Amino acid sequence: MLERALCCVTCKGKVKLSEQSIRGLGFQINVKFSDCQRELSVDSSQKIGTMSNAYDINRRSVLMIRALGHGHTGLETLCGLMDTLPPVTQSHFDTINSQLCQASKSVADFSMREAVKEELNATEGEEVATLNDGKRGLLDIMKEFDLYIGENAVNWANKSNETRYFHAERATQASTKEARVERRSRRRNQKLH
Ligand SMILES: [Zn+2]
Repeated sequence: MLERALCCVTCKGKVKLSEQSIRGLGFQINVKFSDCQRELSVDSSQKIGTMSNAYDINRRSVLMIRALGHGHTGLETLCGLMDTLPPVTQSHFDTINSQLCQASKSVADFSMREAVKEELNATEGEEVATLNDGKRGLLDIMKEFDLYIGENAVNWANKSNETRYFHAERATQASTKEARVERRSRRRNQKLH
């Protein structure tokens, strides 16, 4: 489809697109100009990492499936049903996963500090609000993991955090109310006896 819409800038000749250097979900788009025989290749996703040779999409896919609480099998299912290329192999998945663990550990310190703050800010209720496992933490991990954080990811994180805080607040309110009712009925009972 795209081939029909493209032509060579120099000779206006036809263009042939193909995939090459497939590594998990990442690959290169090979562009071949049939008339002038020129050839060029473009990465399908950004290259990252210390050697700048890891496809961003592979790390991103591991982070995503881990955030959903699944592993390699889950990722295979997702890619199969989404009709994409198969994901990275199990051993590559394990490597990325352990890198991800390192990145998570680095940001854990910060998250813990935030969690303590959040706990202290929680109302005087008997039940303490859920600890900070918010989606913004995932963005920190992404940053640590060398992944580009786009506008859509930020919007998503903000939106899910709002929802989370809303639910946490409601849960806290409900539990403090429950505690209040219980205290009142306890006092009433004490008066009766
Ligand atoms: Zn040409």
